Amino acid sequence: MSGKWGGKCWKPTMLDRDSKKWLKDTVKGLVKFDEPMSRHTSFKVGVSADAFVAPQSLKELKTIVKWAWENDLEYMVIGDGTNLLVKDCGIRGIVLVLTRGFKDILTKDDSKDIKEGDVKVSVMAGCRLQALCRYAIEKGFKGMNFALGIPGSVGGAVAMNAGTSAGTMGKVLDMVKVVMPTGREKEIKKPEINFSYRKLTWGKEVKRFYPKKPIIVESRFCLTKGDPIKIKKEADDIVKCRREKQPQDSLSAGCFFKNPLSGKTAGELIEMAGLKGKRIGGAKISEIHANFIVNCGRASASDIFTLKESVQEKVSEMFNIDLEPEVKIVG
Ligand SMILES: Cc1cc2nc3c(=O)[nH]c(=O)nc-3n(C[C@H](O)[C@H](O)[C@H](O)COP(=O)(O)OP(=O)(O)OC[C@H]3O[C@@H](n4cnc5c(N)ncnc54)[C@H](O)[C@@H]3O)c2cc1C
Repeated sequence: MSGKWGGKCWKPTMLDRDSKKWLKDTVKGLVKFDEPMSRHTSFKVGVSADAFVAPQSLKELKTIVKWAWENDLEYMVIGDGTNLLVKDCGIRGIVLVLTRGFKDILTKDDSKDIKEGDVKVSVMAGCRLQALCRYAIEKGFKGMNFALGIPGSVGGAVAMNAGTSAGTMGKVLDMVKVVMPTGREKEIKKPEINFSYRKLTWGKEVKRFYPKKPIIVESRFCLTKGDPIKIKKEADDIVKCRREKQPQDSLSAGCFFKNPLSGKTAGELIEMAGLKGKRIGGAKISEIHANFIVNCGRASASDIFTLKESVQEKVSEMFNIDLEPEVKIVG
């Protein structure tokens, strides 16, 4: 492997034989050791996680998190891995994945705290965001169309405050249910969460556990009842527009950089810097959308990382603007 941290960031496993045995004996859902993360990310890069665990139920998830807390073991939760660059040294500790369960969607329009015309939709974190969008269209609920075409899970979308210029998850969210780093379950209402551009910041009560973070297990959204035909028409237009503007079938994590707060978008700056099509190893700046870094098939995480650095350097040199990654770089 090449690059700044390609082969040199090896760290020993966090899991000893007893921990592995505990996981195997306790968890009824999927448990794999030394699982390549390239199988679980849209970039299709990243070597192994010490353990890859898909709990079957909320009870099981809470048991694992409590055990990790008591034994000082690190974990991270992933959804569909569509916004992740896993370093070539892999992930030490446990990767928890909720997309193999935790999929239910439930509508509530009978509780007292609902305004006339509103509906509350509760969704488990492992549900695909596109499944939620389709559900809203079928039911004639307005408010989710902005998220059409964004891949990944609902939990990941809330954690990233995913969105487009037409809306964000934070705008429609009403409440989340989380599992705290201690394994305790907690409901957190929207006023206790700060949403900003592709970012969720937890309030004080949660922050005291930092760097450990809560796991979102359920989110409740406030949507409005609308005309199903109009909602479907709007949805078709949004999907068509996305298809024309973004690379569809390439291996990427979507927009790699956040747009600067004013002025040109990250994609425009990268294009103006003459970087469209630039390639390092198997990683390339997309010809269709300059803010997409794509894996042409054989990229290592290091290739993608090195390309990201060269883009940042060139844009800074030419426009004096520091581009901040939107993609989470982990490992
Ligand atoms: C082709 C393409 C197009 C895209 N277009 C867009 C777009 O238009 N707008 C946009 O905002 N994004 C876009 N993305 C990025 C990505 O799809 C979103 O950020 C998505 O919401 C990530 O969801 P995920 O389940 O894949 O999360 P992951 O990538 O698995 O995780 C992302 C982050 O969320 C955290 N996380 C995941 N699940 C949970 C949970 N249950 N509890 C707590 N934390 C959690 C992870 O730890 C990680 O930090 C695009 C990606 C691709 C590949």
